[in-house]
Amino acid sequence: MVKTWLITGCSSGLGRELAEAVAARGDRLVATARSTDSLQSLCERYPETVRSVALDVTRAGDAAKAVALAEGAFGGLDVLVNNAGFGFIGAIEEGQPDEYRPMFEVNVFGLIETTRAALPALRKRAGARIVNLSSGAGIAGSAGFGFYNASKFAVEGLSEALAEELRPLGVSVIIVEPGPFRTAFLGRSMIAAGREIAAYAETVPARRHYRETNNGRQAGDPAKAVAVMLQAVDAEHPPLHLPIGPRAHAIAEQKLDCFRADIAAWRDISIATDFDTHN
Ligand code: NAP
Repeated sequence: MVKTWLITGCSSGLGRELAEAVAARGDRLVATARSTDSLQSLCERYPETVRSVALDVTRAGDAAKAVALAEGAFGGLDVLVNNAGFGFIGAIEEGQPDEYRPMFEVNVFGLIETTRAALPALRKRAGARIVNLSSGAGIAGSAGFGFYNASKFAVEGLSEALAEELRPLGVSVIIVEPGPFRTAFLGRSMIAAGREIAAYAETVPARRHYRETNNGRQAGDPAKAVAVMLQAVDAEHPPLHLPIGPRAHAIAEQKLDCFRADIAAWRDISIATDFDTHN
C-alpha cells in the first residue's frame, strides 16, 4: 500500500536518506526542512509524489501547515517521522542554559508540537506510524553527554506513553535508537559547551575528543539505517524500541544487564515499603 509520509529535517543525514528512499519506492512525501532550498532537487525528481514545505520544529504553526499540505495534496497522513535534532557536549556543570536549552526546544518540544499537530490526521488512518528519532544516548547516559541524554530520554518516555495511548486506536510508535552513523551529526549538529572545567578532565574531554576524531569516520551507513527503518514501518507489528547498529545494541544490552543487577541487589530492602497493614 502506498503511504503518505511527513519527515522533519530532510536537509541532510538520516532524514534526507529516508526522504530519498521513501520517494524512490513510490510513496508520497511531504519533505520538510528549515530551508526548502535543500529540497528542490527532490521535488523536481518526483513532481507527482513529493511536496516540500518549510518546517522549523521550534516555529509555531509550521507543523500544522505541513500536515495540512499532506491532507490537501495526498488526502491524509500515514507516517510521521520526527527526525530533526542535534547534540550537545559538555559536563552538566559546564553547560549554560542559553547553550543547552535550544537543544531541548528542538529535540523535545519541537518533537512534541509536531506530533500534536499530526495526531488528528494520523488517528484517521488505521495502521498509522509515528517514528521518533532517539539515540543510543536515549538508552543510557554517559559523561559529557548529559544534556543530550536528557533530551533523548524525554523522547523515550514520551514515546512509550504515546504508544500506550495510541495502541487502542491502531497507531504504532517506533523509537529509533541509532548508534553512530556517518551524517553531519558529529559536525555541524554537535554543539559543545563554551566553558571547560578542569575538574572533569578525567571524563568529559574524551567525549570532545571522540567527536573530533570520529566525525566522518562513523561506522554506520545511513542507507542501511534507513532500510531498517522502512522495514519496521512496514511491519505488521512494529517494534516499540529499535536500536540500530551494533553500538546501539551493545548499549541496550549493557543497560539491561546493569539495570537488572542494580534493582536485584537492593530488591529486598527497596520493596519493603508498603504499610504493614492494608486497609
Ligand atoms: P544531521 O545530518 O546533522 O541532520 C540533522 C537534521 O536536523 C538536519 O536536517 C537539520 O536541519 C535538522 N534540524 C535541526 N534543527 C532543526 C529545527 N529547528 N527544525 C527543523 N529541523 C532541524 O544529523 P543526523 O544524524 O541525520 O540526525 C538526525 C537525527 O538522528 C537527530 O535527531 C539525531 O539526534 C539522531 N541521531 C543521529 C545519530 C548519528 O550518529 N548520526 C545517532 C543517534 C541519533 P538544518 O539543515 O536546517 O540544520
